[in-house]
Amino acid sequence: MAFYITTAISYVNGVPHLGHAYEAIATDVIARHRRQIGEDVFFLTGTDEHGEPVADAARAQGIEPQALADRNSARFKALMPQLEISNDFFIRTTDQQHKQRAAEVLQRVHDRGYTYEGTYEGWYCPRCADFKVENEILEGNRCPIHEIVLTREQEQNWFFRLSAFQEPLERLYAERPDFVMPAHRYNEARAFIGSGLEDVSLTRAHLSWGIEVPWDRSQVFYVWFDALLNYYTALWYARPGEDLTARYWPANFHVIGKDILKFHTVFWPALLMAAELELPRHVFVHGFLLAGDGRKMSKSLGNVLDPFEVLERYGADALRHYLLREVSFGQDGPVSPDGFQARYDAELANEYGNLAGRTLNMLERYCGGVVPEVATDAALREEFAGLFARVDELLGTAELSAALEEIWRHVRRLNRYVEENAPWALAKDPGRADELAGVLASLAEGLRAVTLALVPYMPVKTAALLAALGAGEQNERSFASHGWGGRVSALGPLFPKDPAPAA
Ligand SMILES: [Zn+2]
Repeated sequence: MAFYITTAISYVNGVPHLGHAYEAIATDVIARHRRQIGEDVFFLTGTDEHGEPVADAARAQGIEPQALADRNSARFKALMPQLEISNDFFIRTTDQQHKQRAAEVLQRVHDRGYTYEGTYEGWYCPRCADFKVENEILEGNRCPIHEIVLTREQEQNWFFRLSAFQEPLERLYAERPDFVMPAHRYNEARAFIGSGLEDVSLTRAHLSWGIEVPWDRSQVFYVWFDALLNYYTALWYARPGEDLTARYWPANFHVIGKDILKFHTVFWPALLMAAELELPRHVFVHGFLLAGDGRKMSKSLGNVLDPFEVLERYGADALRHYLLREVSFGQDGPVSPDGFQARYDAELANEYGNLAGRTLNMLERYCGGVVPEVATDAALREEFAGLFARVDELLGTAELSAALEEIWRHVRRLNRYVEENAPWALAKDPGRADELAGVLASLAEGLRAVTLALVPYMPVKTAALLAALGAGEQNERSFASHGWGGRVSALGPLFPKDPAPAA
């Protein structure tokens, strides 16, 4: 079964920050989970490189827009392996093939009569590269996202007949209540449509940094339409010599931030309908990570959790775990360096790391390094019976934090199981050897099960632990009795306290 998932593409007028890392990590967890359950996954991320904000930023630095795009796109691309992101392709909207394919789609929209020439006048935010409609504008003519004063702009350009899709979009939302998730974002998008759609500018006249309009060479496409099409164009050329469009289109999941909801939940489906292309199955809208004091994180406020510092010292898995554990995915929530440290110590070093360390040590000391081939504890088996089905269900609706909570409940259960059964006490009594073997077999199997469930979240440490457990072939997503066969091997602390910065 094919499964196509995307992040939004990052805009190259700036450099990567925690918000970009957050979205890539969340999307990666879903992609890895789908691969784990045997689906044929294609995972796309990349950079959005045209438009006025890039042209402006380049001018301010005295360089060509392409040079700025090259430099910053490389930074976003380099971040992906650092975060253990398993994307299958990294698209750049300045790729020649993207430009060609996007122009073809937009030509089709034009040919089908969904464009016209007109004069646009409105309130424009240069940082959003977007004209704002009346019901979005803050008091004092300010941008609802950047809070800067909007400028009044007028120009002659080509319009997209968004208004023609009023009814089709209303029908889409009525028929598919899970088109946008979570529900409060669906309601927000539906309300925006309900307030009445106005036609929007499809092209810009006073700008050269963009994809040329094939039927009017004096104009370039408005950067948003160019950027949205990346999800479609990438499949055409991501794998040299092979067109993946039929295999993966339409996307199963677009994962986006709440600030670009309108483009993905209103403009994008309308554009696809205009081009007679199939619509994505779901758009998942995540919230913002806030500073510990509840304000939006910003360098100037000095309250930033620096992803690069965390990565260097603790590695990608720790950052991935923290962000998805701390903030309920889909909501806004605060993150902070102190919060990271607290969860790292309590959950990764103590709860999970110690569970792993103790289990491996006891298997070595009491069982000669071999998982006993005896029946596992029936009560524990019962408690683990629904784990994978529940995780699959939650991840199917992108409830990443809820699924992680479910897994973590089982990590804690295993720590209680150790305390309740005190294998070190059983080991002192030769008459209880069978009991000891049962307890350690159950622990090994429980640890294998939670670790397998954690693979999408923490791909590096889980691979090391599964290997140390000798569970290489034991990758069934279940809790059962296995013929383990292999020998456990030593593993240093999975999540050492106070790790030294990487050399
Ligand atoms: Zn803005």
